[in-house]
Amino acid sequence: MRIDVVTIFPEYLAPLELSLVGKARTAGLLDLRVHDLRSWATDRHRTVDDSPLGGGAGMVMRPDVWGEALDTLLGEDGEDGEDGEDGEDGEGAVPGPAGPTVLLVPTPSGDRFDQRTAERLAGSRRILVACGRYEGIDSRVADHYRARGVQVLEISLGDYVLNGGEVAALVVVEAVARLLPGVVGNPESLVEESHGAAGLLEYPVYTRPPVWRDQEVPEVLLSGHHARIARWRRDRALERTARRRPDLLRALPADELDRADRAVLEALGWTVDDGGVVPQPGAVAD
Ligand code: SAM
Repeated sequence: MRIDVVTIFPEYLAPLELSLVGKARTAGLLDLRVHDLRSWATDRHRTVDDSPLGGGAGMVMRPDVWGEALDTLLGEDGEDGEDGEDGEDGEGAVPGPAGPTVLLVPTPSGDRFDQRTAERLAGSRRILVACGRYEGIDSRVADHYRARGVQVLEISLGDYVLNGGEVAALVVVEAVARLLPGVVGNPESLVEESHGAAGLLEYPVYTRPPVWRDQEVPEVLLSGHHARIARWRRDRALERTARRRPDLLRALPADELDRADRAVLEALGWTVDDGGVVPQPGAVAD
C-alpha cells in the first residue's frame, strides 16, 4: 500500500518512522511519503491560505495550491478516477480490496473514523491524506475531486476540534497499517481486540507477576483450562461492553449470542429477543 500525506508540517509525521509502522516501511510493506504543501505554492512567501470569503475569523487553505498538489500526486500512478468508475459506490464510500486511490480529508464535520473504516481502507491500494490547518481547506477541493470520480472520504476523529489534520493522519496510518498483512507479528492478536468482529470491547488483560500490590490475577487465567479461560474472557468482554458502551451491545446480532452470553446479559439487565439486545424495562438507562 502507498500512503501520501500532504501537510504544511511534514515534521509532525516523524513518529511514523517508529515502532510497527516504521518497521513496515523498512520492510517494504508500506510505502509512506510525506509532502510539504508549500512546495506547490507559487509566491515568494509560499502562501497556502487566504481570508474567508464572506468575512469571519481565521484563514482558509487555498484551493489552487491544494489542486496543484493533488493533481501532481494523483497523477503519479496514472490513476485519478476520471473515468468515473471509482465513484460508483456513492459519496464517501470506502473501496474494498485493491480499490482505487482514496482521498482522505480529515475534518471535524466528517464521518466518524472507526475500525470498520480502517478495515476497508486497509484494502485500498493507495490513500492520500490532505491535512487541513486554519479554518480548513476550501470546500471546492473535496467537491472537485469527488466530481472527477475520486473516492473522497471526509473523516472526523471525534466531536472536538484539533488545530490540524496531522494528528488524524497519524491515527489513520497507524490504524490502517497494523491491519496490513505482515505488519503485526502475530495476526491472532488482531482477532479478539476491541471493535473487532465480535463487536465487543476487549476483556481485561494481565501478565506476571500473578500478585501485584495485593491484587491477584483472576485464578482462572492461571488454570491452563482453555475453554474456561475463553468463557471467562467472553463474559468479561460482555460485562465491560455493557457498562462502557451499551451502544455496541445494542448492535450485537442476537443469533451470534449463545446461552451463556444471554445469561450474562440477563444478569446485567439486558434481554436478547427477536428485536436484538435490548435493556430490560427499568434495568438500564434507555
Ligand atoms: N473550522 C473547522 C470547523 O469548525 O469544522 C475546524 C478547522 S480545524 C481548526 C483545522 C483542521 O484540523 C481541519 O481542517 C482538520 O484537518 C483538522 N481537524 C480538526 N478537528 C478534527 C477532527 N475532529 N477530526 C479530524 N480532523 C480534524
